[in-house]
Amino acid sequence: MNSQQLLQMYQAGRNEAATVIFDRYVARLTALAHSRIGSKLRRRVDAEDIVQSAYRSFFVHAQQDEYQVNQAGDLWRLLAGITLHKLYGQIEKHTAARRSIDHEAPTDLPLTAATLPEASPEEAVAIVEELRLVFRDLQPEERLVLTASLQGQENSEISRTIEKSERTVRRLLASARRKVEQRLLHSDATAVKSSTSEVEHDAPLLYADYVLEQLLGSGGMGKVFRARVKETQQQVAIKALNKARQSDPRAVTQFAKEAQVLTRLRHANIVRVEGLGRFPNGGYFMVLDYVDGVNLQSQLEAGPFPIPVALGIVHKVADAIGHAHDQGIIHCDLKPGNILQNQNGTILVTDFGFAFLIAGGAATTGNCLGGTVGYIAPEIMNRRSLPAPTTDIYSLGVLLWTLITGTLPEIPFTCGDTQKELAPVARIVRRCLAEDPGKRYQTTTELQRELRAF
Ligand code: ADP
Ligand code: MG
Repeated sequence: MNSQQLLQMYQAGRNEAATVIFDRYVARLTALAHSRIGSKLRRRVDAEDIVQSAYRSFFVHAQQDEYQVNQAGDLWRLLAGITLHKLYGQIEKHTAARRSIDHEAPTDLPLTAATLPEASPEEAVAIVEELRLVFRDLQPEERLVLTASLQGQENSEISRTIEKSERTVRRLLASARRKVEQRLLHSDATAVKSSTSEVEHDAPLLYADYVLEQLLGSGGMGKVFRARVKETQQQVAIKALNKARQSDPRAVTQFAKEAQVLTRLRHANIVRVEGLGRFPNGGYFMVLDYVDGVNLQSQLEAGPFPIPVALGIVHKVADAIGHAHDQGIIHCDLKPGNILQNQNGTILVTDFGFAFLIAGGAATTGNCLGGTVGYIAPEIMNRRSLPAPTTDIYSLGVLLWTLITGTLPEIPFTCGDTQKELAPVARIVRRCLAEDPGKRYQTTTELQRELRAF
């Protein structure tokens, strides 16, 4: 029985089809997930759990007739896609783990071709690349909703976060899924778009001057490695764009912009950038000061921060962000994963990958749409307005609450049932999270004054 017949049977309510679908692919999917989990991450991420959860969401969505399969192998491609999404969601959650995991020299250096693990079916690897491209092509709202959904959030939760009805969430999800499927089904999965009109960016640093030592972390845009300058033995961090993004002029421009933005900023609580360089094959990388420490997301996994500590951290982040605002730069993606703390306890804001530049009061470039569900202000989410300092103030409020409680604030945020000791913090957070940006603190200085009042 082929994919199409199986799916139709299942949709017609015949549960034995579910069993067939399960049995037919479960071993391959588990092998696929297993092959993509680094050896040391295996202790924390379980391939079988991932596959189970992929099936759960597949069956739910299949029941709602959200999938269409037309040709042989479609069902496999679809399930592999869902499984890999689940997997990346999990891996993202385990950045903490990753830091201690990749002690070995990284096996998948971003730009060396043909270093993919043998165990992984060629087909699936191509799908991963495809998915990255697909994700990039989604509308920002679709991307946020799909990511949240793949990370296990219920539609009702997502609907609260983005302040849209569940119906809208369902619609966004369906259209995101449709696009993903279209792309998976109707494209040559191995062809990565090559750009004919690539813009050149000034990138004087030479890859040959560095030795990559260890993978430090990876986020939406690419990977960050610890590296050494050959001549001086000085440690630095090298951030490289994902391979799939290197061939996308928009992503490359944004990456180059991140480097430029960071060079304009000089602040004790902002990671310093050295500049931009190119790999021998043409891809761009960025050299940053190496921060010997951990990001706050990893620290949160060990538990929330005591109130005074969290207040101190947010005060410093606000200071750094105030400096950026003074230069007309809105960060747009403030969250624990983008804030590092070094061995001396110094707080360092990083990842200006979605930063938005305001020149003379008028917006010049806008990418502030890659922000993270839960941290991004509603007016940006709904595209009612362009990023402004109050956009970052909103995220600072979310950050404060998350650091103290370990969970995202519920939206709409009410201070109603919070414990007594949290009440004063909750008041600050509520002001930051005001739906109307005009009702938030207008500057980081105002927010800092409140934080200091403790
Ligand atoms: P992305 O744009 O992909 O999210 P980030 O700049 O947020 O990339 O970096 C991802 C992770 O890499 C961070 O959470 C952090 O753990 C690590 N990292 C980033 N920059 C540095 C640095 N300069 N020094 C040490 N680790 C870093
Ligand atoms: Mg990041």
